[in-house]
Amino acid sequence: MSSFVWCHGPTCHGQHTQDRIRGVKGSKVLRTKKVAQHQYNSGERTSMYSYFCSQGCYNDFANTYVREVIALHPRTEALETPIDVIKTQSTDWRGEPCIDTRILTVDNN
Ligand SMILES: [Zn+2]
Repeated sequence: MSSFVWCHGPTCHGQHTQDRIRGVKGSKVLRTKKVAQHQYNSGERTSMYSYFCSQGCYNDFANTYVREVIALHPRTEALETPIDVIKTQSTDWRGEPCIDTRILTVDNN
């Protein structure tokens, strides 16, 4: 048994591709594509590819509804990640001395 969802791209049904054509001569339509649900895009692996047939449809959705999506999860302050910066003497690809800078995330928990 296969399951699917309709692509959520707002203009998916307007794309001129042969795989969207449905109906009989004289009453044909371009129809929104189905997005098959399978082990690689459902359950724990649910992602944008569970709801959109293509990157283009995802971009159309994101650009159309960005204000509503941001309103659901607004960011009112900057987030910060504690780090240590470690600088060590090293040599570059020519053998010249240089300083390597490594950024390590610090786990404060
Ligand atoms: Zn689509």
